[in-house]
Amino acid sequence: MTKIIQVENDLSVLDEAAEALSAGQLVAFPTETVYGLGASALDEAAVGHIFEAKGRPQDNPLIVHVSNRDMLNSVVKSVPAAAAQLMETFWPGPLTIILEKSDLISHTVTAGLETVAVRMPNHPAALHLIEKSGVPVAAPSANLSGSPSTTRASHVIADLSGRVDYIIDGGACLVGLESTVLDMTGEVPQILRPGGVSLEALQMVLGEVRYEPALQDAEKTPKSPGMKYRHYAPKAELLLVDAGEEKRIEEFLNEAKEKGNKTGVLCCTRHPYDAEYVVPCGTDAAAYAHSLFDALRQMDDWGVELIIAELPADSGGIVPALKNRMLKAAGGRVVSDVVETRAERI
Ligand code: AMP
Ligand code: MG
Repeated sequence: MTKIIQVENDLSVLDEAAEALSAGQLVAFPTETVYGLGASALDEAAVGHIFEAKGRPQDNPLIVHVSNRDMLNSVVKSVPAAAAQLMETFWPGPLTIILEKSDLISHTVTAGLETVAVRMPNHPAALHLIEKSGVPVAAPSANLSGSPSTTRASHVIADLSGRVDYIIDGGACLVGLESTVLDMTGEVPQILRPGGVSLEALQMVLGEVRYEPALQDAEKTPKSPGMKYRHYAPKAELLLVDAGEEKRIEEFLNEAKEKGNKTGVLCCTRHPYDAEYVVPCGTDAAAYAHSLFDALRQMDDWGVELIIAELPADSGGIVPALKNRMLKAAGGRVVSDVVETRAERI
């Protein structure tokens, strides 16, 4: 049985779930990025249950969430000065930092790696839950493996009800996309997954930072195990077309209509598409990022067979993260001169 708890002003409503967490149960909770599925990072059996509940491949390591510096210090070997500076600037927030792991963290959490991914989420309910449980919390996104991440409690209930002990309903997630994963164990800091903190923001603090080469070259093996999997995919077929290519989108829509396919469009322009289902995702990238996963799930709920999504034209900020998720969700089905000519795979 899954118990659902509504977040209230008085966060002590979460104390029961915090206790359950520390006792080895699974608790799904809201963060500013997406919902997470948490277990005590110190309890190998509980961490194993996360993989089972999600159907997550065993070789995909989990992010460990902390609520204070002492907790952080207990899960890593040491905190280099540059990493401390990042934490000062971006924590709590959507930045996950990879450091050498301490002996407290098992290989079940890290999928056999000697490094651990750590983050302090910027959400009062998440911070309260972790702090009250008194343990670092291993938490991947709270969705069935492969499907779009969850940004509302209703999404978590659809995917994981009956598979987890608690679901905490804190409303819609502010950012809507996952954290940036930054590897600080090499000579030059590398972004393994673009996310809520941009490359430019990291460069302002660190100077040199780069994208991991596999992010921009599909032939290379990603350093972040999770990035090699098909991800975020709706049940419908998803096709990406550059915003500004309204004519091409209309041609695809006509084609689909002739074939009798139920179609939907996700758009970031105000073009009046003639499709059965149109979801305007906002004209700025942050709004699009906020609504992407919700919109993909909405299309599936409507039974749409083909989703055509406009790829945002701008760059920088959250856009690389948004495009990364869209490209993965589409499984490479892209009609875009921009993406192909610049080999911009992120
Ligand atoms: P999720 O929590 O499902 O959003 O995924 C977490 C992401 O962080 C995945 O892409 C993982 O592969 C990545 N990750 C977690 N720990 C590590 C690590 N120690 N080294 C590299 N990537 C990691
Ligand atoms: Mg995930």
